[in-house]
Amino acid sequence: MRINCPFCGTRGNEEFTVLGAADPVRPDADAPVPDWVAYAHARENPRGPHRDLWQHQHGCRAWLVVERDTLTHAVIAVRPARDA
Ligand SMILES: [Zn+2]
Repeated sequence: MRINCPFCGTRGNEEFTVLGAADPVRPDADAPVPDWVAYAHARENPRGPHRDLWQHQHGCRAWLVVERDTLTHAVIAVRPARDA
């Protein structure tokens, strides 16, 4: 898979580290513990378009939101995380 970093250009995915889903909703500070456990550990395993948070660790080190299709591995869009 190749990712088009907005700052460095197209690079192989081995230059990047994936953190996980880009859209988890942070619970309120006084939310019950199970909500925090789910926020920290439970992740969807979607089939189709999905947004993940990646870091260009061996490049510019920018955090990026990569939208990709989990069936085809096609990268749909890449944006700096600060703009997503
Ligand atoms: Zn980069």
